[in-house]
Amino acid sequence: MKDTHTKPMIVIDQVVKKFGSFTALHGISAEIREGEFFSLLGPSGCGKTTLLRVIAGFEPPTKGKVAIGGKDMSGIPANSRPTNMVFQSYAIFPHLNVEENVGYGLKTRKMSKADIARDVAEVLKLVDMESYGKRKAHELSGGQRQRVALARALVMRPEVILLDEPLSALDKKLRDQMQVELRSLQRSIGITFILVTHDQEEALIMSDRIAVMFDGRIEQLDTPEGLYRRPVNRRVASFIGVMNFLPAKVLGVTDQHVKLDIAALGQIDVPRHDIDPAFDIEAVDTIGVRPEMFTLLADADDTAQMKVQGEVVDSEYYGDMTYYSVRLAGHDTPVTISMRNTAGRSVVPPGSQVTVGWGADSIVVFKE
Ligand code: ATP
Repeated sequence: MKDTHTKPMIVIDQVVKKFGSFTALHGISAEIREGEFFSLLGPSGCGKTTLLRVIAGFEPPTKGKVAIGGKDMSGIPANSRPTNMVFQSYAIFPHLNVEENVGYGLKTRKMSKADIARDVAEVLKLVDMESYGKRKAHELSGGQRQRVALARALVMRPEVILLDEPLSALDKKLRDQMQVELRSLQRSIGITFILVTHDQEEALIMSDRIAVMFDGRIEQLDTPEGLYRRPVNRRVASFIGVMNFLPAKVLGVTDQHVKLDIAALGQIDVPRHDIDPAFDIEAVDTIGVRPEMFTLLADADDTAQMKVQGEVVDSEYYGDMTYYSVRLAGHDTPVTISMRNTAGRSVVPPGSQVTVGWGADSIVVFKE
């Protein structure tokens, strides 16, 4: 990641949010940098929307505070904050055309007609909707309505755009396209974006950094790559992509390596530099291996650090990739292995006996 965004734009300090006796946010602290595409990711009910609403000023925190651009926002109402929210339903006024929808907020600022027309034209161009100015909401596709909603937020020139599941109502193809568009738009205008999503793929594709939330807490705040390669616990590991877990025992620790016994599979030395120094190594009881870190070996392949026999139980063909379910010798629960379908490699049918290779540098360690 280019690390140009170092200035904090939003500082969230020990924010607690209670609804009656229920605590939705348990003392959240985080800094969101200027110009950053930041995502709040987590399962339904983990508190993402609540945190976004606290930042926006729609919900006062029960304790703690939020500062934006160096200013404490306590007591400052939503419409006086330098933020603008794009909602999930992207509700745009049905009786107004696109230009009127986008210019609506500026009218309430009592700008002149000419200035409004200029600003509206500018943002419609930015979202690639300049030829749709006279259309009504019902004459637009879902993706176009989404762009109008975004234009309506952008035209107010906020310092931060808040997006609450903005793409969830779109079909998969359009969503994929809008993810890329939104990301490149954010890069080109350089405004800080905060996205709420429960879709890990969406968060990985779009974000500079992601806060993974469970039960009203941030469990890990990291880059997409950091989350994928170095998840701090099993819950995060399972939420971001697929992770295979295998029971392990620590046999010894040196300055360089941790020697692990992987149940029924043998011993392996995991490099110390792959493990967070703060991690209690002695407590390791599980390893995690991503599907692409296993390989189905051809007979002649001798480069893998570890090899184990297995049986293909099932396969799922995705065109470019095949996902295999493979039962490793001595293990009841099959592991998931992904293989790229390169030319000349045919799909291995269920029931086949295979040799599986993997290496110590592909391992993440966990404790209960
Ligand atoms: P989703 O992806 O389903 O929108 P979320 O992670 O955004 O989930 P929130 O909407 O922030 O979750 O809700 C967090 C918790 O707080 C949930 O258990 C929810 O029921 C509760 N909650 C949210 N708003 C209120 C409210 N106004 N009154 C009472 N409880 C609330």
